[in-house]
Amino acid sequence: MKSVNPATGETIATYPDHTPEQVQAALHAAHAAFLTYRRTTFAQRSGWMNAAADVLERRVEELARLATREMGKTLEAARQEVRKCASACRYYAAHAGDFLAPEPAQTDADDAYVTYQPLGVVLAVMPWNFPYWQAFRFIAPTLMAGNTGLLKHASNVPGCALAIEDVLREAGFPAGVFTTLLIGSQEVEAVLKDDRVRAVSLTGSEGAGRAVSATAGAQLKPAVMELGGSDPFIVLPGADLELAAKTAVTARTINNGQSCIAAKRFIVHADVYDAFTQAFVAGLNALKVGDPEADDTDVGPLATPQIRDDLHAQVQDAVNKGARVLTGGKRPGGPGNYYPVTALDQLTPEMDVWTQETFGPAALIFRVGSLDEAIELANATSFGLGSSAWTADPAAQRRLTEELEAGSVFINAMVASDPRLPFGGVKNSGFGRELGRHGILQFVNVKSVSIG
Ligand code: NDP
Repeated sequence: MKSVNPATGETIATYPDHTPEQVQAALHAAHAAFLTYRRTTFAQRSGWMNAAADVLERRVEELARLATREMGKTLEAARQEVRKCASACRYYAAHAGDFLAPEPAQTDADDAYVTYQPLGVVLAVMPWNFPYWQAFRFIAPTLMAGNTGLLKHASNVPGCALAIEDVLREAGFPAGVFTTLLIGSQEVEAVLKDDRVRAVSLTGSEGAGRAVSATAGAQLKPAVMELGGSDPFIVLPGADLELAAKTAVTARTINNGQSCIAAKRFIVHADVYDAFTQAFVAGLNALKVGDPEADDTDVGPLATPQIRDDLHAQVQDAVNKGARVLTGGKRPGGPGNYYPVTALDQLTPEMDVWTQETFGPAALIFRVGSLDEAIELANATSFGLGSSAWTADPAAQRRLTEELEAGSVFINAMVASDPRLPFGGVKNSGFGRELGRHGILQFVNVKSVSIG
């Protein structure tokens, strides 16, 4: 496996893939560790998890630079990501015991209660876009519940994958509780089929989700799938347009535009269309695209040449079919996978971007004439991950929260993940939930106990 700096195209490190023997040894160690780790107390696990948070915070600069060099996010964004991982560790360290406390039940028996027990070894298949956060939002609840974990990270972030294992080792987790596997995607099936692996969590593309959930289904193993999104960002008359436009800029370009919950389709009422669009495009134009390690950079390069090619092909397809380019749209020459922040409007259903996810800094702006039309267009996608809507009208807010087909609705705010709120999608955005209490309940045996 190779780490290639997306800002320069240079290979910064190579890592040998794990051999089949190493994978077998990791499976054995993860299973053996489970048999004792499952008996540890919440207090012990919290101690290790809080120690992991301390390690993350202490090593923030080193870890952030590694992520920036492997996948191109700005250094400041990488620092924030590492700190957010620490917050998730602390959150589950503080709350897992309460979330999984036995619950008494009233039945005809002398005593009855529900208890939550770990499942065993859980496999995580994770993407490169938030190389630490995606992993830690799996790790914190999964290990606090008493499971052990195996991570198959994306092939372009092997350095981050090994760093995560190192952080947990340094935190003091017993050997085998968490292991990184340096394997390709074609080896996931065999690992998931292994009897010692009891469940799987995947974050990534729809294709990867279909492949891995098919294997999980055939094996009757529980799965959590967190896949793509084409999130709507709806702006209605009466909204705070200045704040909406400013937030829209961040919501589209966060993580260089490569976030499943980035706002991708801006659905704007005709009455405020010109005012919003003008402010939005001005905000996009004010961003600095460049070296992700420079302090004043807002948007770095895309993670791989393929991601940039795919995004540019989507933009060109739309332009060839009549879309208007409000800004950007031209692929620069020179080294690095840079792409300008881009905004398109006058979009039509025959364009690829009408149905596909745009994984990069390209905003699609749609004009609608009513709330009904806004909701209909927002839902006219195979995805259903997040949604954001801007209106001061309580009746409109109610309809939006009830009728948007998405795993989350943020009113007058951008979609963001938060350890305190469950996170996930409907439709082709996947199933199951991460984070919050719901997240920790995904990989436990909900065991009913009835006595006498
Ligand atoms: P992938 O879905 O290909 O990769 C995500 C993870 O899944 C990686 O670890 C990858 O391994 C693994 N994987 C891929 N295919 C399979 C498979 N058939 N069986 C088992 N594991 C598999 O994402 P990409 O990096 O290719 O990004 C492409 C698209 O994915 C983006 O355009 C976006 O739509 C979506 N995406 C969504 C994310 C989200 O947060 N929801 C995050 C990242 C991407 P390997 O790297 O070795 O191929």
